[in-house]
Amino acid sequence: MAQIIDGKAISAQIKEELKEKVKGLKAAGKEITLAVIQVGEDPASTVYVNNKKKACEYVGIRSLAYNLPESVREAELLQLIEELNAREDVNGILVQLPLPVGIEEDKVIRSIAPEKDVDGFHPGNVGALCIGEPGFLPCTPAGIIQMLKRSGISIEGKECVVVGRSNIVGKPMSLLLLRENGTVTVAHSRTKDLKAVTRRADILVAAVGKPKMITREYVKEGAVVIDVGIHRMENNKLCGDVDYADVEPVCSAITPVPGGVGPMTVAMLMYNCVESLNLQAR
Ligand code: NDP
Repeated sequence: MAQIIDGKAISAQIKEELKEKVKGLKAAGKEITLAVIQVGEDPASTVYVNNKKKACEYVGIRSLAYNLPESVREAELLQLIEELNAREDVNGILVQLPLPVGIEEDKVIRSIAPEKDVDGFHPGNVGALCIGEPGFLPCTPAGIIQMLKRSGISIEGKECVVVGRSNIVGKPMSLLLLRENGTVTVAHSRTKDLKAVTRRADILVAAVGKPKMITREYVKEGAVVIDVGIHRMENNKLCGDVDYADVEPVCSAITPVPGGVGPMTVAMLMYNCVESLNLQAR
């Protein structure tokens, strides 16, 4: 039986630790504030934003909500970000993605001050990660490293294969595994003989965006399997990029969907909000 890596429990543990830390900071007169901007009313985005607000409340972080209409002009959004960048009482700025057509996501991400970019998407933070300087780490891959560490799974010297090379998951994931001294391969849609590549993995991270694509033929016996994917199926249930029922019997540890990587992302966002005080003090 594989070890089930419980993201819900690990994220709860992290939020508990942060709550204590925030209590101490408050006692020392320091308050943390996160500004959350949502454009439009996409239902999935609303769920994500509400989860983030709830987590803020739990940990003791003040959250400011900005709900802009779908029709908002890019210039107005950039103006709001500029104001929040300048406010001393705002430590973190989060713009919920995706943005409506007509607003350039890259431009918006670049407009956030790097020292307030708690999502870790600004090129300044991506560059810092690449060369090992202090900065915000993107929440999903940072959460995966925490899951592995807190489950007693060592990364050093392991063959790590990441399937997917997006800027928010695959690429930073590979850099973080490298930083932990894993031997890292990044696979993508042009990879030849993907199964042969993934079967080398001691630690396999699936961030493909294809429901249940990773079946047991992709997995070496005894591997650790991390499933980043989230998909809603026709029966309204959630599934990941990994075919859990097929893979679980052959691996040594696996993350479920739901209750795996998902909750870690929000916990690491809270971690970044607390970390913002250190980065802003530099
Ligand atoms: P993207 O669609 O941006 O990237 C998918 C990657 O998978 C691309 O690099 C693509 O390759 C690669 N890929 C696609 N098809 C194949 C294939 N058949 N074989 C090999 N590689 C393939 O997705 P994201 O990285 O943004 O997200 C991945 C998944 O994770 C999604 O399901 C998303 O919903 C989920 N997610 C979950 C989060 C969480 O908190 N749990 C947070 C963020 C995302 P190429 O570059 O060549 O096109």
